[in-house]
Amino acid sequence: MYDLIIKNGNIIDGSGKAGYIGDIAIKDGVIVCISENIKGESKEVIDATGLTVTPGFIDSHSHSDYAVFDYPDMIEKVEQGITTSIGGQCGMTLAPTGVKGDKLETFGTMVNAAKDIPLGSNLKSFVGHSALRISAMGYENRKPTSSELETMKKYLREAMENGALGLSYGLIYTPSCYAGTDELIELAKVVKEYDGLLSAHIRNEGFEFIEAVEEFLTVIKETGVKAVFSHHKSMYKPNWGKVNKSLEMIDSAIKDGYDIHMDVYPYEASSTSLAATVISKEFRALDSKGIAEMLSDKAMREKIKEAYIKRNGNSLSNLLLVECPAFSKYEGMRIDEIAKLWGKDDFETAFDILAGSGANANICNFSMSEDDIETVLKYERAMICTDSSVAKDAKTYHPRLKASFPRFLGKYVRERKVVTLEEAIRKCTAMPASVYGLNNKGKIEVGYDADICIFDADKITDKASYVNCTERCEGLKFVIIGGEVVAENAVYNGKKKGCFIPHKR
Ligand SMILES: [Zn+2]
Repeated sequence: MYDLIIKNGNIIDGSGKAGYIGDIAIKDGVIVCISENIKGESKEVIDATGLTVTPGFIDSHSHSDYAVFDYPDMIEKVEQGITTSIGGQCGMTLAPTGVKGDKLETFGTMVNAAKDIPLGSNLKSFVGHSALRISAMGYENRKPTSSELETMKKYLREAMENGALGLSYGLIYTPSCYAGTDELIELAKVVKEYDGLLSAHIRNEGFEFIEAVEEFLTVIKETGVKAVFSHHKSMYKPNWGKVNKSLEMIDSAIKDGYDIHMDVYPYEASSTSLAATVISKEFRALDSKGIAEMLSDKAMREKIKEAYIKRNGNSLSNLLLVECPAFSKYEGMRIDEIAKLWGKDDFETAFDILAGSGANANICNFSMSEDDIETVLKYERAMICTDSSVAKDAKTYHPRLKASFPRFLGKYVRERKVVTLEEAIRKCTAMPASVYGLNNKGKIEVGYDADICIFDADKITDKASYVNCTERCEGLKFVIIGGEVVAENAVYNGKKKGCFIPHKR
């Protein structure tokens, strides 16, 4: 007796090969038979006639590790077909904190505390460079001493031995951004010892984009480490088109034998903190509380404004305030619109929001070109991602959190035909499974975990927008994790079939 048979679907198995009509039988959470017509008895049968059956989507770049303890259902992930999330990106992770006795003291203590918590979506995580640096030397804006560097390495080794995928850099965020290239190389060597992965939110995605790509390539070439470029993009109009150059640089390194991938989300706006966007690095020798203090100085405000204008132009009309508890009634408005209401200029407005919120404000930054997005989505080694945690209690957030995968399949694959559906599914499943060493995931194949999406390929699309971000996607009929349906018509049923995936090192 099978647990579930999915009948008569168009099976796109994740390998990139053409789809075929068939049945899939599942027992004990595993795909046990794939055939033209499975006859055996089953507790449950799903008729997938006219529908497409694929492996569950793997969110190749997320911050879902932040949900584990407080929001373990990861509802926005499950409702867009994500069955496994890769967390701990951009240098930021819950652990290590280095605080003695804390459940987050080390990566290992964090995994121990998390490993028995049932989750909505499976999870695997990097360890973040900012977390290592904070544990070793706080928010200091300087080179580490040799003993501080040793402490970082010690925490990094501990993380690698306790199941971290590798190390993530977040080179626009404090304190990861205070590291020089030499520090990045020293830590990458440790990752290489463990045959782990290195991911990087590179140092600049705007006017110094190419230099930043070059820097990460230097780290890769100096150490031979396997690497992933995070949310690859070039921001602000004068920099549009530079991804053609960056992809050439990366291709040439791959030709030389380096193992490099990238992830990308299918949106023209990025999303990050207002502080990291408006205040350039030279002024950020402080944690978020310090930022509020710094902004009480008028001369300092002038300097920060001047530096921003020099780099990015003199308007903040491209910034949409999305999450800011202290100014929640302005969420969903652009900074220039708030400025008009307050009778101030864009920068005074942004600074007042930062000062009045303890720098707890997130924005969407409309700064990318559609051509670039398509170029990167099409790139052979590009995987799809949300670059998001979960909504928690926020009412406004970047729609990628809710709809990256349906949007990719609807807007970019069906409508714009950026890649074939088979290739698109490979980017969402087997490619990330192979990059992240998820051995039994990412394919419809006998012996693989029964993490599966069933959707209408003619209808699947995102509905979440920048204004109505909570809208569910359309066309996604079933999401299955470990052989059990967890969402039907993009409505999560509350079953937690995922977990923090134990490591096999
Ligand atoms: Zn990032």
